[in-house]
Formats: sequence, structure tokens, C-alpha cells
Amino acid sequence: HAVYGVEKWGRNLIVVTEEGEIGLNNPLAPEAAPISLPGILHDLEQRDIRPPMIVRVSSYLESEIDHINESFAAAIRRTGYQGTYRGVFPIKVNQQAQVVDRIVEFGQKYHYGLEAGSKPELVIALAHRLSREALIVCNGVKDAEFIRLAILSRRLGFNTVIVLESPKEAETVIEVHRELGLEPLLGVRVKLTNMITGKWEESSGDRSTFGMNTDQLVSVIDRLRDAGLLHCLTLQHSHLGSQVPDVNDVRRAVGEACRYFTELTREGAPLTHLDLGGGLGVDYTGEKRATENSINYTVEEYSANIVETVAYALDEAGIDHPTIVTESGRAVVATSSMLIFNVLESTLYDAPDAPEIRPDDHHLVSDLAAVGGYLSADRLQECWNDASFYRNELRALFRRGYVDLRQMARAERIYLSLMARIKALVEEQEGGTDVSDQMEKLADIYHCNFSLFQSLPDVWAIDQLHPIVPLQMLDRAPDRRAVLSDITCDSDGKVDRFILADGASPSLPVHSLPDEGHYYMGVFFVGAYQETLGDLHNLFGDTNVVTIDLKPDGGFELLHEQEGDTISEVLAYVEYDPADCVAAFRKMVDEAIATGTLKAGDRRTLMSAYRDSINGYTYYE
Ligand code: PLP
Repeated sequence: HAVYGVEKWGRNLIVVTEEGEIGLNNPLAPEAAPISLPGILHDLEQRDIRPPMIVRVSSYLESEIDHINESFAAAIRRTGYQGTYRGVFPIKVNQQAQVVDRIVEFGQKYHYGLEAGSKPELVIALAHRLSREALIVCNGVKDAEFIRLAILSRRLGFNTVIVLESPKEAETVIEVHRELGLEPLLGVRVKLTNMITGKWEESSGDRSTFGMNTDQLVSVIDRLRDAGLLHCLTLQHSHLGSQVPDVNDVRRAVGEACRYFTELTREGAPLTHLDLGGGLGVDYTGEKRATENSINYTVEEYSANIVETVAYALDEAGIDHPTIVTESGRAVVATSSMLIFNVLESTLYDAPDAPEIRPDDHHLVSDLAAVGGYLSADRLQECWNDASFYRNELRALFRRGYVDLRQMARAERIYLSLMARIKALVEEQEGGTDVSDQMEKLADIYHCNFSLFQSLPDVWAIDQLHPIVPLQMLDRAPDRRAVLSDITCDSDGKVDRFILADGASPSLPVHSLPDEGHYYMGVFFVGAYQETLGDLHNLFGDTNVVTIDLKPDGGFELLHEQEGDTISEVLAYVEYDPADCVAAFRKMVDEAIATGTLKAGDRRTLMSAYRDSINGYTYYE
């Protein structure tokens, strides 16, 4: 199993057990033995909960919240920083009630707050009882209704900060303030000019779509002063980006943010909070390098760099140390969810044996079979070339009608048996060759019970890499390589880039599918962004979701189960009334009975087939 690199990317949360299964370690009980993930699935199956499903591990969420908060606390202690740290969780990264509720619960002791980027997210935030000292940070485009709710929520003791994104928004705040006669808590979003490398480079720098430039900042300061509201401006927001790969980019951006903090303070804004937004990355590949799917720092380094940079810059400017706020989303939730699905079947690009040549075979079929006679390690390239040539010629003849389907099928089978022998010889060879480069074309297709568009949208949209690994048989060497295709009817619905121990690969080592029982795959670290960005392509809906807690004694507790969408639920999303669909189908059945094309006795069978489908799961059952 070393090929999968679980030791590298698994962060000691995901491990391989002695029985050759993926196991989950409990970070809150490091002494406990890992619990087998297939074992958990078996247990859930007894309760009739089946893949595809998302398994959320509550203990991982708790441990990430502890990790970030304690890292900042340690950095603050170590550097003698005078301020504190107050994190907020950006709701957009995972809005699911089960996730946000738990984050609020685990975050109480750290006065952990929430970030809302829209009205619905503010409504969610205000439905939680946060610690008295926690913040609610409101980002994004805000209308008067949004601002009114944010200001009024202060009457209930919420520390709701309205982060001004533009001069126009400042005007709306001034109007709502006059209307309500209540003071807002204000922030300003400052556009940093430093570019941050990585996938989200565009969200940094001059052309980023949010925040204000220096000219706009000055006009907002003047306007707030005129309106008698400058004393409400206590927070500066400077979002660093997302999944920042290089910690030195963090230092540079924080340094620039501090320059603004200094200047805004000198302008008379009584700033007390410096909010650095998101950016803390997740090492999806375990490479520990500044690449798109990895990061070259730890949470401890990230927090230490921020605290040190702020302390240094503001000491130099003679300004009191502010409360440091970050809005880490990805790093808080990514590890806590995993997607589990079963492999339904495989398409193989080799065959164990070939048919005997017959006298009536086309001469090109005999030529193709003859390649087997001189196939050896030192003539691999020649044999590959010859086999491909004869098959292509036969395909051309088939297209023109000179070769029939059965001849073509015999040729295909002979070709695939040659490929099996070539594959075996390539594996014995050392070093890359032209033939070994071509081997990816022979990878199997494993057809899997999930929708890429619903469950792994970033894999499709932005080439996000998530660790993917079979959950069982890891005590045996994988004997095949495969790409994974999903259950949608879309050729984009496939995964063909994988994280392996020695780097990214276009195919995944897998085992021949067992004759009995399921072959499960797990996709890890999918807790951030994937659930809500997912869509209903082909009308595959939300999967089942279970939330579990890992017990200190090695067991697990099922905290919550959310059944996946039924077909009738997804029909409603696209504005069908399921009752109307049933009625329309019934009408056609009755008409068929009336015209005699259907027997009355078949009515029940047809209607229950339709009803069972409409009430059932959208995935393969
Ligand atoms: N805060 C703001 C304003 C954001 O736009 C984002 C996402 O890009 C985040 C926080 C969360 O970032 P991350 O998930 O990288 O922690």
C-alpha cells in the first residue's frame, strides 16, 4: 500500500491498519487504535445507510479548531504579543447546519465567531448563540436590509461587524444608521496590491474584485468622519487569498496590511482588529511544498509568521497590537469530510487470453496474432507498434465493410491479450520508455457510484487534487491501474489525476474487483467548498451524509444521519411537481388499458415501478 502515500498525506488521521484497511485515527485520543473505515461502513450498512455517502468526522473538526486557536495562542505567548486572536469561520466554506452547529459548539471556548458573505449566511450566523466576545464579520455586497439586520443584531449582544466593501456601501450604512439611530460596528476591506501565488492568484492584487484602493479608502474615511461615524471603524479587513502555497507570501501580504493599518490609524480610525481573511492552506498531497495542492508551512508557522509580522510592523509604527482575526475555512473543515463510494464495474484494456487463429480469419487478424510469437522484453516497442498498426488497419477495413463484427471482435480480443503481456513486461522493466509512457492508455476504467459534479466539483472545475484510495485489500499489492468514471452520462465525469507516494499520476493503482462484496473508494479532505458548489448534473442529488464521533475507546458514535435526496426531491428543484408526474404517468397507463395495449392487471406493476423510483435514491442502489 506504500504506493498510495497515505503516510505522506494522511496527517496521521487517515492510516492503513494492520488488516490492510483504511483506518481513522482519533486526534483527540492519540493512544486509541485506529478504527477501520470499512468496519464503520459495515456497521452503517446494518442500519441501512449505504454509499455513496459523505462521512463527517466530528472529532476532526474539533481538533482542527483546537489546532488553529492553540497555535495562535502559543505564537502570542511566545512573542509577547499584546493582543489576542479571534477566529471566525466563513460559513460559505461549508454551510451545512451539522457543520456550523458543531463549529460553534467547539469554538465557544475560543470565542470563535462566524463570517457571513451574504444575507442568508448572516441569517444563519444570527441563529447561533455565540460567545459574548465572538465576532460576526459581514463581508460581500450588502443592501440596506443586510445592513439593518447587522446593526440591529447588536441589540442582542452580537458583535456584528459590517465590512465596507465600497464607498457606496458606506453611504447605505450612513442612511441605515440615521434611520435606526443605532451605531454600527464597522470595518473596511482593503485591497492589497501584493499578489499571492497559487490557484487563487486572481483573487489577490489590484484586479481582485473585492475591497477598496487607497483613493476609495480616503474618501470613505472622510465620509465617515463627516457623518460622525469614524469612531465606529474598528476593523481592517485584508483577505490574503485561499490555499496560499508559500508562507512567505503570507508574510509579505501581512506586512502590507499593517502599512494600511498604520495609515488608517493615523487618519483617525480607532482600529482594534486586523482581519486577514482566509488563505491558510491544506496539504492535500502531503508534499509539503509550495505547489497548487500543497503548502510549504504548518499551522504553527502560519500563525507565528502573522503574529510576528504584525508585532514587528506595529511596534515600529508605535501602534498598540490589535486583535488578530483570521477567516480560515478550508483548513478548519477540509479534513473532516470524506466521500465514500463503491465501484460498480470495470472496463479493462487487456484480456487474459486470445482465441486460436482459424484458417478463415482475415490475414491481418493472423498477422496481429503472430505478434505474440516474437513478443519479448527486448522487442517491446516493435511489438507495440505492430499490434497498433494491425488493429488500426482492421478498424479501417471494418469501417468500410470489409471486416465483419465477429472478425473485429476476435481481433480486438487478440490485441487486448497482447496488451496484457506487454503490460506485464513493462512492469518488469526499469526506467521510462516510449511504451511505458503509453501504458496510461491501457489503464482500466472503474465505473463508480458517485457524481463528480455533485460531490467533487473542484476536481472538475479547477483540477483540485484530493487523495483517493481504496478502503480495503491494502495488504495486497494492487494488480491493476485505473481511472475512475462517475455515474453521470458526461465524459467529463471522470478522475484521471491521483496523488501517489511519488507524485501525481494519471491512473490509480487498484485491485481486480472482488467476485463478492464491495470494492469501496474513499476521497479525502472534501469538507471545504465541495458540498454546496456541487450541482445536480443528470439530476444526481445530495448523497447520504453521516456525522460520526470517534470515541476514546476506539469505537464510533453515529451523531446524525441525513438521507440523500430522493428523486422526487431533485425533481422539485427543477420545478416538477412529483405528484403531477405520478398523475401524468397514471393517465398514460389508464389510456393504454382503455385502448387495450395494456392489461388492467399490469397497472399495479407499472405504477409501483414509477412510484418506487420517484421515492428512491438518485444513485445506483
Ligand atoms: N474570507 C473571505 C473573505 C474569503 O473570500 C474566503 C475564501 O476565499 C475565505 C475567508 C476563506 O478562505 P479559506 O477557505 O482559504 O480559509
